[in-house]
Amino acid sequence: KARAPVSAGKPSTNMYTVGKPARMKVQGNYRLTDDPTHDVRHIILDAGGLPFPVLEGQSVGIIPPGTDADGNAHLPRLYSVSSPRDGERPGYHNISLTVKRDEQGLASNYLCDLEKGAEVCVTGPFGATCLMPNAPDARLLLICTGTGSAPMRAFTMQRQRAGATGGMTMFFGARTPESLPYFGPLKKVPEGVLKQHLVFSRLDGQDKEYVQDRMMAKQEAVADLLNDPKTHIYICGLRGMEEGVEKALSSIAESIGQPWATLRDAMREDGRFHVETY
Ligand code: NAP
Repeated sequence: KARAPVSAGKPSTNMYTVGKPARMKVQGNYRLTDDPTHDVRHIILDAGGLPFPVLEGQSVGIIPPGTDADGNAHLPRLYSVSSPRDGERPGYHNISLTVKRDEQGLASNYLCDLEKGAEVCVTGPFGATCLMPNAPDARLLLICTGTGSAPMRAFTMQRQRAGATGGMTMFFGARTPESLPYFGPLKKVPEGVLKQHLVFSRLDGQDKEYVQDRMMAKQEAVADLLNDPKTHIYICGLRGMEEGVEKALSSIAESIGQPWATLRDAMREDGRFHVETY
């Protein structure tokens, strides 16, 4: 039932397949986190001369090289694109991914260990619904945990480049500042572009706090967004967050006399409510 925002750009999908992937070159692989137990990477892939149009909110498939135990080629793993439509810098023909190393993970270890200049097989782009509105006065409510921040980075950069006026509010949860991807770069984004609520669950001497707790603490601001038909909501990250975040949204919506299920379904129908959790 997911729908794209009415004003979203038209996405290209399935241009490159397992049989005919795009071969991209690694332009950079930078560690984003200071926590030694939490290796999150910003990986930039250059499409070279290949057409590879992406919109913020789309994802790509990465095919790890080699074969599985049965001798079959590995299947692609999906990653959200964390760069805006016209590249890491305007006019650059590249995309970036935000990847957390999972010690057991085949694709994440392959990606996190990539060296500059290496060639990577990429499928996609994929996704035609979790897109960004192009209307400059749209207001975005971004709720994410960990690497679920990947599409939020793309949205923020694109809105900033496009001079959007509606503003964005983000609730971003991580264990600590050291494990929050893009902690440094986020500090440089002006509040008028992105109002940030960075929420930490494992700070020494402090109670665990999740994004849904902070949303409840800031319920007036969230209610103001829920009351506005220009608001678009995006929830990305751990599957476990979905229930708590919906509970918070439900409680805040009810407090302003809006039954949440009705509001959510209307927003979804309108392409203004998006959830991508894993
Ligand atoms: P993580 O570091 O394990 O967790 C991030 C934060 O979420 C921590 O503070 C954690 O708290 C908290 N959390 C745990 N359970 C929660 C709950 N029920 N409600 C609210 N917050 C909760 O996250 P991660 O390993 O980066 O995982 C992010 C997820 O995003 C992955 O599942 C990934 O597949 C998905 N994702 C990734 C992309 C991408 O492109 N890379 C895009 C979309 C989604 P505690 O651990 O302290 O309890």
